[in-house]
This record gives sequence, C-alpha cells and structure tokens, in this order.
Amino acid sequence: MDLSVLNIIDEKKEIIDGVADYLWANPETAFTEFKSAQKICQVLRDEGFTVEENLAGIATAFSGTFGSGKPVIGVLGEFDALSGLGQVEGLAEPMPNGQECGHGCGHNLLGAGSLGAAIAIKHYLETTGREGTVIYFGCPGEEGGSGKAFMARDGVFDCLDAALCWHPGDITRVRVKHSLANYQVLYKFDGVASHAGDKPYLGRSALDAVELMDMGTNYLREHMIDGARIHYAIVDTGGFSPNVVQAHAEVLYLIRAPHNQQVKELYERVCDIAKGAALMTGTKASHEFIKGCSSYVHNHTMLRQLDQCMAAIGAPEPSEEDLAFAKAITENSLMNIPNHDLENPIHWQQIPYDGVTIPGFGSTDVSDVSWVCPTAELSGPSNAFSTPGHSWQMTVQSKTPWGKKVMRFAAKSLAATAIELIENPELLQKAKEEHKQRIGSGYEPPIPQGIKPRPMNSFGRK
Ligand SMILES: [Zn+2]
Repeated sequence: MDLSVLNIIDEKKEIIDGVADYLWANPETAFTEFKSAQKICQVLRDEGFTVEENLAGIATAFSGTFGSGKPVIGVLGEFDALSGLGQVEGLAEPMPNGQECGHGCGHNLLGAGSLGAAIAIKHYLETTGREGTVIYFGCPGEEGGSGKAFMARDGVFDCLDAALCWHPGDITRVRVKHSLANYQVLYKFDGVASHAGDKPYLGRSALDAVELMDMGTNYLREHMIDGARIHYAIVDTGGFSPNVVQAHAEVLYLIRAPHNQQVKELYERVCDIAKGAALMTGTKASHEFIKGCSSYVHNHTMLRQLDQCMAAIGAPEPSEEDLAFAKAITENSLMNIPNHDLENPIHWQQIPYDGVTIPGFGSTDVSDVSWVCPTAELSGPSNAFSTPGHSWQMTVQSKTPWGKKVMRFAAKSLAATAIELIENPELLQKAKEEHKQRIGSGYEPPIPQGIKPRPMNSFGRK
C-alpha cells in the first residue's frame, strides 16, 4: 500500500487538531454533547461528507458518509466528557478549571482522530476512484450511556462490513483486552412519609429499603461468578431531613459480567434482592432499565491487519518537551500508582500483537458494534505510562501537542487498515467468516426496545 495517501492527515492537521481542541474546551457529558456534535457535523459537511443526524432518535448521534457501494467501512467517533474532571490546560498538577466536566477519558482526541481517519479514507476513495463507502459515526454517550448499544439495537451499524476505532491510553497496541457486558438499572422504592420522632410507626422508609438492598447485594458478591462486578450509587436518598421518614429513594446499579447471558442472570438476582428489601420494609419496589452493553467480540483477522498497519506507519516518537511534561505528570501524581515509569514516562514503542487476548474489567459500547460486524481498535500512548483512566491527569494530557501526535498516528493507522480492507476483498471475507463463527447464534441487543437514552445528569433530585 502506498502510505503517501495518508499525508492528507498532516495536511488537514489544523482542522483535525482544531476539532480535538474545540471538544476539549467545550466538554459535555453523555447525550448532552450538542456543541461537540455540531462541530464535527460541520467539519464533515465542509469536507464533503453527507451528514445524517438524529440516528436512532438520539439528538447527538450522527453519521457522515462518502462514497458508494461495497465495502462499507465504519469509523467510530466518541466525544463525550466526564463530570467533575475539568482541569487547567498545560498544568502537571491538579487544578480544576471551573468547568463542570472534562475530557478525562480523552474522547476529544478519539472523536477528532477517527474523523481524521474518515477524511483520509475519503481522500483515498476520491483519488483512486475505487468503489467503497466510508461512514464516520458520531457516537454519543459512551460514558455511562452506551450510546452505541442504542444505535446497534436500532440497526444503525447493520450496513457495515467492518468497523474501526481507537482509544487514548498509555501504550501503543491493538486492543486485546476483554470488556464486560453490563446493565445499568435504577431501583426505586416508595414508602410512606411520617414524623420520624412522633409517629415513626406510621412511616415506611424507602431509604431503609435502599440500604437493605445494598446490604443484600453485598452478601450476593460471595456467591456470584468470578469476573462479575456490581457497583451502586444512591442518587436519591429521600431528602435531607432526618426527622422525616423518607417516602421515596432511588439507587442506580451498574451490574457487570464477562458474558451477555451472565449479566442477565445477575440482574435477575439483584431484582430479587430489591423485592426482598421492599418486603422487609413494607415499601414498594420498581425498577427502570437504563442501558446495557455487550461483552467484546475480538476479531483476530482485523487486529492482525491493524497491528501491521501501525507498524508500517511507525509510532511517533516523543520530543524532549513531550517527555518533560509526561515526566512532570509522573513525578507529581503517578508515583503512588503501580508501574509508573519515571525513566521512560511515555511507552510509545509499539507492543507487537501476539494473538492473545487478556482479561479486562471495564466495559465499552464498542462491544455492541463488535457483535454486528468485524471490529478492531487500537490504543495510543497519549498519556504518561500508568495514567489512570477517568482522571484529571488524563484530561490535561488530552490537550497536549503529544496527544495530538498520537491522535494523528491513530488516524493514519485506522485509515490504512480501512484501505487494506477495501483493496483486499479476501481479507475482509476472512474477517467476516471469523466474526460469524465468534458470534454464534448472533447479536441480541442488551437494551430492550422502547428504552430511550437518559442523560447522566438527569439522575437524582433536582
Ligand atoms: Zn473512553
């Protein structure tokens, strides 16, 4: 493959970097990413893509399409931020910048880098006149929202032959980590309010029910499968007055397990615990299914190709300034974190792919796309080694010149892989056959029909 076609990513550096910086400066949480979505849609239009908005009925989900015919290659872009992680730019110590949220998962780089890849694939299709279609998918609400799982449920990705994505991280490698299926469920209890001192016997406490439910769940932990996780947050305690028996309370659960069926089974057991808590307290339990996502389906054919493309392009080498900033971050805030590396704060050299997948205990909604079509992802080292995800350290490192160098490398690697898939039908065929074999009886969307995405900031008492 002639790699010179990828130079377009350097030629369009100002536009692509500009998107990353704009998203960083305008962070928005799940399903409220209006400015970010508008910005990317505008660039897609300017670059000659046909933009479709409101995918799956989600206001901030969109696509930009170029080309015609087969194959159809999707590039997934995320752009949502995390609450509470605003951070002053360029500072290697914690200093909130006054914003309600920040790009503590680097999705500003992710969204812009994937956009760069889509622009390069379009440039390739245009200059070669080859048949093929590239679609950039603007996927909102990855953080706690599983936007792609809603989109997958509604068939948004059904047109794809393959999908590509990347994520900022602290190593250069294709994604080989497993990720857990999850369900997010809001449990609600309704009781009876009463004067807590004068007539407590008339009250039925919803907050007691929440506490007993959480306790029941904590006993469940010993008797659930290895690798499962359950987390909860009490989002409505029933008010701030201890002298009132709380008549209503809500607790938000995130239930995870290695495989889709396992999370379903665990969810049913948690629902039983909620019923038990209601019975014990004389309250009424109900629940609302908020969202879910699937476990990950790796595709080794795709990963092998992505790995080769990354090696052919060559991971970028950090400059003295890039290293100095990463070292300052390490010195100031990573010294207590295992495996920090003060001598080589950026692990930029590519770790070759060896065909082995490793356990992982987070979740990603890219998983749902991985059930629909062959999917591969890469991780780029925009952060100092050992930087924790979802942290102020990651927010600040998502706005550095180094972060953008990594982003452009990711964009080139994804574009090169897409071009290989377009040029080698037998490669794509092999990836599809592997996919078919891995998904067994097929994709069962974890989110029931009729459930709509709910913004993260809509929980709790307003
Ligand atoms: Zn992320």
